[in-house]
Amino acid sequence: CGIVGYVGGQCALDVVLAGLRRLEYRGYDSAGVAVPADGGLAAAKKAGKLANLEKELAARPLPSGPTGIGHTRWATHGAPNDANAHPHLDNPGRVAVVHNGIIENFAALRAELAERGHVLVSETDTEVVSHLLSEAFSSCGDLAEAMRQVCRRLEGAFTLVAVHADDPDVVVGARRNSPLVVGVGDGEAFLASDVAAFIAHTREAIELGQDQVVELRRDSLDVTVTVTTFEGKDAEVRPYHVDWDASA
Ligand code: GLU
Repeated sequence: CGIVGYVGGQCALDVVLAGLRRLEYRGYDSAGVAVPADGGLAAAKKAGKLANLEKELAARPLPSGPTGIGHTRWATHGAPNDANAHPHLDNPGRVAVVHNGIIENFAALRAELAERGHVLVSETDTEVVSHLLSEAFSSCGDLAEAMRQVCRRLEGAFTLVAVHADDPDVVVGARRNSPLVVGVGDGEAFLASDVAAFIAHTREAIELGQDQVVELRRDSLDVTVTVTTFEGKDAEVRPYHVDWDASA
């Protein structure tokens, strides 16, 4: 339902949680976050309101890094419980994915992954993406390229945002039939399903086009935004200024 991603110099977890708060008005049944940190990937997710997730984070704090992703879920496949909440990880938990929409061909992909020995632990249509991304990253070593390869196999409607423990300065996103907007700040960048998530930080935005992948990569104090098609061709980027009043 709601998606937030962050790359930059602030505490990613704080920015992501504040962004999720801004998207609460859309309604949701569970929430979760993931941050690559200390060579690994830390995640927390909880059914119910953001307050439940924050209680969990207060009891078991996550390490902080420059990148993070978050999600508020409106369940379509699988009950609204902790296990089905996003982010979804691969096994052994090196990649984390959040998803809005529906992966129509998830059953076939699940069967294919099971045949290759993957153990899926949720009832969602989303979890196949984390396992496919993990496999693709293992062979190509690049999260944006892995995302392109996986998206070419997906049917349906999806906004996807992912992080990987082995590339902790990068957040990637992709979209088909579901919105994704990039917020471009000074030395930081945002991904969100709705500009409301980052309007407090920047009003410079890029609307991702249909069947495009975006990579936000942090390099010292700069963040580079690269947009390509699912086929890997450079995509036209259309920056715009968000001028609606978001103070309400
Ligand atoms: N289809 C996914 C699920 O049920 C994503 C739902 C959403 O858009 O929040 O987990």
